[in-house]
Amino acid sequence: MIKTKEMIRVDQLNKYFGDLHVLKDIDFNVDESEVVVLIGASGSGKSTMLRCLNFLEMKNSGEVIIRGEDIDPRKDNLNEVRQKVGMVFQHFNLFPHKTVLENVIEAPIQVKKIPKAKAIEDGKELLSKVGLEDKANDYPSRLSGGQKQRVAIARALAMKPEIMLFDEPTSALDPELVGEVLQTMKDLAREGMTMVVVTHEMGFAREVADRVVYMHDGRIVEAGQPNEIFDYPKEKRTQAFLSSIL
Ligand code: ADP
Ligand code: MG
Repeated sequence: MIKTKEMIRVDQLNKYFGDLHVLKDIDFNVDESEVVVLIGASGSGKSTMLRCLNFLEMKNSGEVIIRGEDIDPRKDNLNEVRQKVGMVFQHFNLFPHKTVLENVIEAPIQVKKIPKAKAIEDGKELLSKVGLEDKANDYPSRLSGGQKQRVAIARALAMKPEIMLFDEPTSALDPELVGEVLQTMKDLAREGMTMVVVTHEMGFAREVADRVVYMHDGRIVEAGQPNEIFDYPKEKRTQAFLSSIL
């Protein structure tokens, strides 16, 4: 059997905000090219979990191992780790005073010191990948929400991450704009990107996820292939959650 590469390994992760115990003994792993969808009610700890994976939040205990490296925020260069782990948020956070292309090339030039001409060439390629090559010189205010989110995806990809985290990337979009963003994510999954996606789009989870992880109150209650979780959930909690949303 070919051993697949483990891109993310989380062992016994605990996270508190003050007295609030938000992540409880989380064990979680993601292999190379795997797509894992995290589901669960609001407040169950999904965003905090993602943020611990790229060190926007710091764990209180446990291990977060990225591509085999046990990351110690006191010793390791977190900017380097974050380059490997791209993130897309519900709100796109584009720079409003920069054009679409300028948004995409900003970090490669400033952080990675890529020469501007090369960054522009790569940036245009990424924009065509997300179907927005003709918007390169527009400002974000001229774009629809779906287009903005696709720019945000291109911007994250410009750092050449090996892992992409998505935190409810379509939740702020009008329903008719959801599909184009999900399509961009599907394309990325098909190309072999390792992805962890928090979403309420169960159709996407069924179609694209290799594994679905259900969280409740800071714990992973159940995980499995989409059909196992959606059609044959074992845990009462999972059943109750699914019947509340489906
Ligand atoms: P989800 O993404 O599943 O809705 P979150 O990870 O955002 O859940 O939140 C988990 C819990 O942690 C919630 O009770 C939330 O109120 C709390 N929380 C999240 N971020 C912070 C923070 N920065 N400070 C204090 N509490 C927080
Ligand atoms: Mg959240």
